[in-house]
Amino acid sequence: TRFDELGLDPLLLQALSEAGHETPTPIQAQAIPAGLAGRDVLGIAQTGTGKTAAFALPILHRLKQGGGRPPRGGCRVLVLSPTRELASQIADSFKKYGKHLGFSTEVVFGGVGHVPQQRALARGVDVLVATPGRLLDHMGTRHARLDHVEVLVLDEADQMLDKGFLPPIRKIVAAVPQRQQTLFFSATMPSDIAYLARDMLREPVRVEV
Ligand code: AMP
Repeated sequence: TRFDELGLDPLLLQALSEAGHETPTPIQAQAIPAGLAGRDVLGIAQTGTGKTAAFALPILHRLKQGGGRPPRGGCRVLVLSPTRELASQIADSFKKYGKHLGFSTEVVFGGVGHVPQQRALARGVDVLVATPGRLLDHMGTRHARLDHVEVLVLDEADQMLDKGFLPPIRKIVAAVPQRQQTLFFSATMPSDIAYLARDMLREPVRVEV
């Protein structure tokens, strides 16, 4: 498979070529068509397989197709991530692949000041990447509202549960009533993860590498 056979927007293909990505990895070849079709995805994949692009590319494609503006105080795409390092890497990937599309991307995590994050949220962002604890703080102080989220991504769900993030994740998911698509990635699928996935996903396409 080649990237241009997957039906991705030409501006995404240009960014991929500039990033030096020549062919889709196996998880990308499976997940991108499902994501583009608007399906929910259950992806079982480790870091290093190219899973970030497997969700970022179809999300960026559909954001461009859909038009629309980022909602004040909220976001259109919400990605939950277990650590600040991973959250920053995911945000960098959205910026790299979306560099010709002009979408805003912000990252929110703990251990740093609240105010710059509050200001960014107030303006509204297209893509918000967040660790669950700090996002829940911002929801509690009414600096983040999630009622306009169209696409929700859980990345490294097993790591998030290991860190005790299941209660904040449940609260966050409950605050995202309007979502049209959910993409759920985990390296392993023990029963507590499978249970959460079953609760969150609607007829998901299961992809495994
Ligand atoms: P990830 O598994 O998402 O953490 O990605 C691992 C690394 O693979 C990142 O440095 C990406 O830039 C790189 N990568 C992702 N997709 C491709 C691809 N199709 N071809 C070459 N490198 C890629």
